Amino acid sequence: MEYYDYSDLLDNNRRWVDETLKRDPEYFAKLAEGQHPPFLYIGCSDSRKPLNTITQTRPGEVFIHRNVANQISLTDMNLLSVLEFAIESLKVKHVIVCGHYGCGGVTAAYRGTATGLVENWVTPIKDLALVHKDELNELSTEEDRLNRLSELNVLAQVRNLCKTSILHRAFARGDYPQLHGWIFAIRSGLIQEQQLPLGNWKELGLIPKDYPGS
Ligand SMILES: [Zn+2]
Repeated sequence: MEYYDYSDLLDNNRRWVDETLKRDPEYFAKLAEGQHPPFLYIGCSDSRKPLNTITQTRPGEVFIHRNVANQISLTDMNLLSVLEFAIESLKVKHVIVCGHYGCGGVTAAYRGTATGLVENWVTPIKDLALVHKDELNELSTEEDRLNRLSELNVLAQVRNLCKTSILHRAFARGDYPQLHGWIFAIRSGLIQEQQLPLGNWKELGLIPKDYPGS
């Protein structure tokens, strides 16, 4: 893989501005007027899944939060601030949690090889692997187990979203943003939508009974 020099980043930026203005002289003036993105995306920080590239979205279309292994922690002020602003001020219609196969955070949690602060950060994934130990052990290769754990991690994080005071307030005022769980398969470039167990979550009281979908 070929990496850029630092100065290339700034050169690329100036070239992009020139090309953009050639196509639309008002582009940046319009962009500066404000943002009304319909999507909040919460994904892993991994450099191989830049959201705007893989979904072909443009500036202004997606509000983004990223952290290692796309965690929704109920004590993470950064995540909660982003979520509150997205739901209550931007009034996004969709909230997407996106994990990916080959996730270093998931692998380190599963193998117990995480060090430093990341070791603390991925502990919820370690716990998840223990809860689903029997299901994971039935899979024949470690890659299969890690892939499944990445999927379980996405489902667990969407579930965590439903436990936030921000979504509770949204549900109480009849505002039901659509929740989505995605896995990005780096080997194919494709996004795989995960089936959310909405019926089960309704029974548990995590989402309102009249939330669309089952
Ligand atoms: Zn990752």
